[in-house]
Amino acid sequence: MPEAGPTARVLDGVSLARALREEIGRDAARVAARGSPPSLRILLVGEDPASIAYIASKTRAAREAGCLADTVRLPATAPPERVIEEIERANRDESVDGILVQLPLPPGHETTRVFDALDPVKDVDGVHPENVGRLVQGRPRFVPCTAAGILALLDAAAIPISGANAAVLGRSEIVGKPVSALLTSRDATVTLCHSRSKDLAAICRRADILVVAIGRPGFVTREFVKEGAAVVDVGITRIDSLEDAPPHLRGSARLAEALAAKGRALVGDVDFDAVLPVAGWITPVPGGVGPLTIAMLLRNTVEAARRRRSAILEDDERPH
Ligand code: NAP
Repeated sequence: MPEAGPTARVLDGVSLARALREEIGRDAARVAARGSPPSLRILLVGEDPASIAYIASKTRAAREAGCLADTVRLPATAPPERVIEEIERANRDESVDGILVQLPLPPGHETTRVFDALDPVKDVDGVHPENVGRLVQGRPRFVPCTAAGILALLDAAAIPISGANAAVLGRSEIVGKPVSALLTSRDATVTLCHSRSKDLAAICRRADILVVAIGRPGFVTREFVKEGAAVVDVGITRIDSLEDAPPHLRGSARLAEALAAKGRALVGDVDFDAVLPVAGWITPVPGGVGPLTIAMLLRNTVEAARRRRSAILEDDERPH
C-alpha cells in the first residue's frame, strides 16, 4: 500500500462567499436607505446554456442581497450595433448602477468594442480600458470579479503573497491578466503563461501560487505543482458523461458521483485528485472560485451604487 501523504487544505469558496454576501447585503441595505436598492443590468447575447445558468445564479444572489437585477437578452444574430445600443441605453438609464455583459459573446462581436462602450463608473466587471488602466497602476476602481474573488480566497486562507512566485495560466482579460496585475500589486513575482508558453510544467513547478484559467479540463497534473503550493482552479467545463472527460479523469469517483446525481458535472482545469496530495491549498470545482465571482459582482454593484448615490468623486477620481 502506498503511504498516505499530507493532503492540501481545500479552500471552501461556498462558505467564504456566503459570509461575504451577508456583509454585502448589509451594505446594500445602507445604499437602499438613501433612495433605491443597487441595481444590476446583465446583457446576454445568444443562448449559451452555461451563460444562462450563470446569469440565473447571479440574479438570484443579487436579489438575496437586496439588489435589483434584470437581464436584457438579445439573439445571437443581433448585429454588433444593436449590442452597443443596448449598452448605451443602460449607460443613460439613471436606475441602473452596474452593467455586466455576459461573456463569451457569439462570433462576430468584438469584445473590446463592447468593453469600450461601457460607462466606466457602471462597469462592474472592470473591463473598460479606464478601469483596466487603474488596476494596472495599483489604484483600482472595479476589479474584475473572478480576479477579485481569487485574491479574496488567498487572503481568507492567509496565504503569503508578498515575495511569492506566482504562475498564472491563461491571459484572458477577465481572469489571467487582472489576477496577474493584482498579484503584482501585492508584491508577488508573476509569470503569465498562455498557449505559446514553453515548458509550462517547469514554470508552474516554481510557483508558490498557481492560478489556472485555460478551460482545459484536468490539464494541470501533479507534475505542474510544487509541494505546498496554493493551487487555484478557475476552469469550468461541463460534461454530460465520463466519456466527455479526458481519459486520465475518467476514473474520478467525484465526477462519477456528480454525474450520477445530476446527469452532468463541472470539471476544473486541475486534476484535483492527483494534485491534492502535493499542494498546500487547493480550490475545488465546483465550490471554489465560482461562488466568489458572484460575491464580487455583488460587491462591485453595491459599490457602484454607493458612489452614484453619494455623488462623491473620490479624490483620485476627479478629472485632472
Ligand atoms: P479564455 O478566454 O477561455 O482563454 C483561455 C486562455 O488560456 C488563453 O489565454 C489561452 O492562451 C490559454 N490557453 C489555452 N490552452 C492553453 C494551453 N494548453 N496551455 C497554456 N495556455 C492555454 O479564458 P477565460 O475566459 O479566463 O476562461 C478560462 C476558464 O475559466 C474557462 O473554463 C472558463 O469557463 C473559466 N471561468 C471561470 C470563472 C469562474 O467564476 N470560476 C470565471 C471566468 C472563467 P492564448 O491567449 O495563447 O490563446
